Amino acid sequence: SSSINAVAQDDAISVAARSGGEELLRVKGALMQFGGLRALNEVDLTVRRGTIHGLIGPNGSGKSTMLNVLTGIYVPTAGAIEFVGKSVVGLPPADIASAGIARTFQNVQLFGEMTALENVLVGLHHTFDSNLAEVAIKGPRWKREERAARARALGLLNFVGLGDLADEEARNLPYGKQRLLEIARALALDPMLLLLDEPAAGLTAPDIKELLAIIRKVRDHGITLILIEHHMDVVMSTCDTVSVLDFGQKIAEGLPAEIQSNEKVITAYLGGATV
Ligand code: ADP
Ligand code: MG
Repeated sequence: SSSINAVAQDDAISVAARSGGEELLRVKGALMQFGGLRALNEVDLTVRRGTIHGLIGPNGSGKSTMLNVLTGIYVPTAGAIEFVGKSVVGLPPADIASAGIARTFQNVQLFGEMTALENVLVGLHHTFDSNLAEVAIKGPRWKREERAARARALGLLNFVGLGDLADEEARNLPYGKQRLLEIARALALDPMLLLLDEPAAGLTAPDIKELLAIIRKVRDHGITLILIEHHMDVVMSTCDTVSVLDFGQKIAEGLPAEIQSNEKVITAYLGGATV
């Protein structure tokens, strides 16, 4: 479990991420309009360093849209997003990733025909090339860098418990393992903030247990998380704070226990989709 530490230890930004407490992300009045639909309707969101922030709400309430806005896939119609005190509105996704925000997607997005290790190498921004002639042309330095990248990728696979499956093609991994592989690939960016879009959806109870242990381990390494989650018991057991969206608006925010007994939240779920 020290592998991710080794990955991060030389990075001043990651050290800062571990110091904990202050605001890492501040969203003010985020508005995301698709034609006449306000998928996000002036949402405020503050996430503190070293915490797991749950983002919940019925289907269609704007959770994934929030992650898409935070990662630059959508540029918000209006509103401010400050990450480590700097605006990231309008930055391309690659720049936001470099700034320290990584994510997984609601639907698994892996390179199915590539191995688990190669998928993580993609996260490390290394173009994988097994052609030895290419290595010879690029010379010993490139070879050394490639070896270091592979070692680091393997460290990340070990971190999520996939070390033994490094050479399996992603498409052949059980679904629960694919979810973990996505997390390893996101961690390869050495993020300060990791956004997980329904990582537990479709998993078996033992898989969820394993996933939650890894999520907590990520948090314990100083990485802040936003967790979109539908199972209330998972939210209760894992999140430090929770925001609730309904029809694009934030209707509640607080500690898990406060959220569970909040009348507005109960009504939103009773009137809408599944929890
Ligand atoms: P959630 O993740 O909470 O289920 P989403 O953020 O995916 O909800 O969607 C919120 C609303 O925004 C939905 O009504 C959805 O149909 C709409 N929406 C999301 N993305 C787009 C888009 N690219 N174009 C048009 N409507 C969208
Ligand atoms: Mg969604």
